[in-house]
Amino acid sequence: MSSLDPKTTALDDCFAFPKRRLLHAEAIALLRSLARPMLESESVSLFDAIGRVCAETVKAPRAIPAHTNAAVDGYAFSFGSYDAKEGTLFPLHGRAAAGDVSKSAAAAGSAIRIFTGAIMPWGCDTVVMQEDCRVEGASVFIPGGLKEGANRRLAGEDVEAGATVIEAGHRLRPQDVAAVAACGRGEIVCFKRPRVRIFSTGNEVLLPGAPFTEGKVYDSNGSMLSGLFAPLGLSVTYGGILPDNREAVHEALHTAAQKNDLIVTSGGASLGEEDHVIAALRATGALSLWQLAIKPSRPMGLGKIGPCLSFALPGNPVAVLVCALLYVWPVLRRLSGEPWMERKKGRREFFRGWLERDGETLIARKYEREGSGLISSLRAATGLIEISEDAATLSRGDDVTFIPFSGFGIL
Ligand code: AMP
Ligand code: MG
Repeated sequence: MSSLDPKTTALDDCFAFPKRRLLHAEAIALLRSLARPMLESESVSLFDAIGRVCAETVKAPRAIPAHTNAAVDGYAFSFGSYDAKEGTLFPLHGRAAAGDVSKSAAAAGSAIRIFTGAIMPWGCDTVVMQEDCRVEGASVFIPGGLKEGANRRLAGEDVEAGATVIEAGHRLRPQDVAAVAACGRGEIVCFKRPRVRIFSTGNEVLLPGAPFTEGKVYDSNGSMLSGLFAPLGLSVTYGGILPDNREAVHEALHTAAQKNDLIVTSGGASLGEEDHVIAALRATGALSLWQLAIKPSRPMGLGKIGPCLSFALPGNPVAVLVCALLYVWPVLRRLSGEPWMERKKGRREFFRGWLERDGETLIARKYEREGSGLISSLRAATGLIEISEDAATLSRGDDVTFIPFSGFGIL
C-alpha cells in the first residue's frame, strides 16, 4: 500500500486547468507535494539491507568499542613506570588475548603479553608492538620513544554510547550496515520497496528479438527504464508493449495500479488522437500535463489511479531517459523513504553532454545533434548540462551545472 496522501488536491487542482502546462519548476514542486515515503516497513537481515532505505533511527546501545583494548600484538605496560628516553626492562607477568573475559591486572612496574583486541589490563595504558621489543628470559625490554597511550584503542573512540548511528531515510551502504552490526543488531527496519510497472506503447513498437517488419521500431525504452531504477533497489517489472488503443491502455493501467505504487509509460503522451495514454489518464480525472524541460520540447503527463502515480513519458528514448532522471527518479527516491532531492530553482534546459579538462578548468561540451530519438547521444554523453532560464544571455565561459549520470548509478 502506498502512503501517497489521498487528500492532496494539487493534481486535481491542476486538472481544473487542463489546457495549462506546467513549467519545470512547477512540475518539481507538484511532484514534491505528491511523493510521500511508503508507510509500510519491514525488518530486514543486515545481509539483505545494503541499498535499502532505513525506516528507523539506530542508536549505539553501548560504546564502540565497548572496552579499551590493544591495537597491536605486543606488551602492555604503565607509561608511568617507563623511561621514554632510554627504554625500560619490565618483568613479564600475565597474558591477555582477544576475547578473554577476566580483565587481567599488571603488577606495578611489570608488563603483560597482549594480543590485538584484548581488553587493556588494569594498570596499563600503553602497548608496544612485539616487533619493537626484545624478550630477555622472563622480562621484556621496551625501547624508548613510545608516547603515552600508544597502540591502545579507547572505549567509545569509534562511537559513543547513545550516539545516533543511522537516521531514518538513509540509504544503507556497506559501511553503514557494518556500523549497525557493530551495535549488535542482526536486523534493521527498512521501508518497503516501491513497486514499479513499466509499459511501452505504440502500434509501431516491436519487442526486441522479434523479426523486423516494415514501419516498426524496436522497443528501446522498456529495457532502459526497467534497468534505470535498479540502483534504487526497487521492485521493477516490465508490462510489455501496449497497442494504440484506448481501452487496452486503460485496462492495462488500471490493472497495474492495483498492484503497484508507480507506473511509467513511454509513448502516447502528446495530445494527438493516437496518444491514448494521456486520454486514459485524463479519464481517471486526475491528470496534469507539463512541458518537458529539454529541447526539443515535448509534453509529458502525470496521472493518479487511486493511490498509484502514473508517469506518461514521451516516446523518444532521449526524452524518456532525461524525464526519468529529472522527474521519476526523485519521486522514486522519495517513495523509497529518502529525503526530497533539492535542485536549484529556475533552471530548465537540459542538454546531453560531457566534461573535458582544459588545464585547470572543466569545460562542458554539448552533443552536437539535437534529435530526441538519437540513442547515440545518450551513449556519447556522460551527463546533462543544465542551462538556466536566461539562456539567451549564455555565452562561452559562463558557468553551467553538470548533472553526471553517475549520480544515478549509471556507470
Ligand atoms: P510518441 O510519443 O508515441 O508519439 O512516440 C514518439 C517517437 O518515439 C516515435 O517515433 C516512436 O516510434 C518512438 N518510440 C515510442 N516508443 C518507443 C520505444 N519504446 N522505443 C523506441 N522508440 C519509441
Ligand atoms: Mg506512440
